[in-house]
Amino acid sequence: MNIILFGAPGAGKGTQAKRLVEARGLVQLSTGDMLRAAIDAGTELGLRAREIMDRGDLVSDEIILGMIAERMDSPDCANGVILDGFPRTVAQAEGLDAMLEERDLALSHVIEISVDENALFARIENRAAETGGSRADDNAETLRKRLAVYHENTAPLLPYYDGKGLLKTVDGMVSIDEVGQAIDEILG
Ligand code: AMP
Repeated sequence: MNIILFGAPGAGKGTQAKRLVEARGLVQLSTGDMLRAAIDAGTELGLRAREIMDRGDLVSDEIILGMIAERMDSPDCANGVILDGFPRTVAQAEGLDAMLEERDLALSHVIEISVDENALFARIENRAAETGGSRADDNAETLRKRLAVYHENTAPLLPYYDGKGLLKTVDGMVSIDEVGQAIDEILG
């Protein structure tokens, strides 16, 4: 089972992905986590990505697709993956389609976690407090930029996946457990 969790920054994709990892033995592939790991490790990619992430822009499609392709071939991904924060552009979605086709794999579901954007500012503030401000992009100014980038580059993927009959939307404004239940109902 290969799933995309889709939604604006702070919608709860990471939280729900972690739930699915525990419940279903799937592997979470979060491009944001991979980039943050590269920054922590001080790699050249990390150095290049840091500035882009701190201002809320997108890292290049080429880098992102390369990272995902490398991970997808790991044996632990054979059971299926939960894509969290990827794809974020139409080019990434097309790249993913090609990557899956080459491996004779397919997407099972694209689940959008829909949220009220005004509520995201409070959520991001909470996350910053909980994580001791470890994410430099968890602040109101960068969130505004990330939301603008989301609308311009990522939201067009909703009709892309809807057209393929894969898109389902859940209400992300209810409790974590209730969002999880709604996702479970879709996945069966
Ligand atoms: P996230 O943890 O998913 O919110 O991602 C944090 C930041 O990493 C984003 O604001 C982007 O700068 C970068 N990033 C993560 N995933 C992608 C992606 N699929 N495409 C481009 N940039 C990404």
